[in-house]
Amino acid sequence: MAQNSKKKSGSKNGQKMGGIGGIIAVIAIVLYFLFSQNSPADTPAQTNSVPGQNASAAAPADVAGQSELPVAAPSETMQMHVIDVGQGSSSLFVSNGKTIMIDAGENGTGKTIINYLNKLGIGSVDLFIGTHPHSDHIGGMDEVMRQIDFKQIIMPTMPKSIVPTTNTYLDVLELIQEQGKSITAANVGDTYDIGAMHLEVLGPVSTYNEINNMSVVSMITFGARRVLVTGDAEKAAERAVIGLNIDLKADIYIAGHHGSSTASTQELLDKVKPSYVAISCGLDNKYGHPHKETIQKLEAMKIPYYRTDLNGNIEFIISDYSIQVELEKK
Ligand SMILES: [Zn+2]
Repeated sequence: MAQNSKKKSGSKNGQKMGGIGGIIAVIAIVLYFLFSQNSPADTPAQTNSVPGQNASAAAPADVAGQSELPVAAPSETMQMHVIDVGQGSSSLFVSNGKTIMIDAGENGTGKTIINYLNKLGIGSVDLFIGTHPHSDHIGGMDEVMRQIDFKQIIMPTMPKSIVPTTNTYLDVLELIQEQGKSITAANVGDTYDIGAMHLEVLGPVSTYNEINNMSVVSMITFGARRVLVTGDAEKAAERAVIGLNIDLKADIYIAGHHGSSTASTQELLDKVKPSYVAISCGLDNKYGHPHKETIQKLEAMKIPYYRTDLNGNIEFIISDYSIQVELEKK
């Protein structure tokens, strides 16, 4: 779809057609206008950085000097917030007034996110990534977007057969169009520099017939530190990212699919070797997230992990020198 699409023209698609065919046609038209050819600022760049493996490690020297990456002074910090949105996901990265947000929680949790941003004095998001169009990731997006300016929006381009016809997705598409914004398709290798934060898209590597596996996978680099966010990507999608044969080491990993046993495969954990893991899930959720298999893997690897269902909001304060963890509930 993105290959054939143009920048949004501003025309408004008001027609309504009956039946599922009509709904799909409306979505197809909206997507046609929304997905733009916007190229990210940089040419794709693969990094060979090796983040520090624990919080007290001295700053690894080989990343910040690379010319294609924005340079963060070693003493600068990035705050990473895993916002407690119940059963869903929303994470926020802030450095020197610049912001990246990945996902915006379930329908009805937009207010929680708006309040969180207000407390931090954040009035706009420079880069928003909707990992995939399930309601626990984009449900709160429209509510947040009515108050907070999303300057750039990235979402995956879904194969036609699985483009959702949900009101949640339609609401988001309609609002994006209403606000005169467009969606940038996520392509592997695309990079975005937001202040001193650098984001590289690592997935989806292929086209899948399952929405979770179409999740945008992001590696965020700040100075010598790296954070991996895989949305709800499951085993097949994780394997494809591993198949890229790039360095996946990251200091912090947000457990894929809310800590489900269908994600965070041992193969991935062995490549990422995170120093910390954050799990975003709701208390006593009906899926049983996080699954005990995931917790057992993390415990076997002695990786400290934090859970929004038990710890509330989780904040990591990240610099080359240290990673501090602040929990709303201990
Ligand atoms: Zn999810």
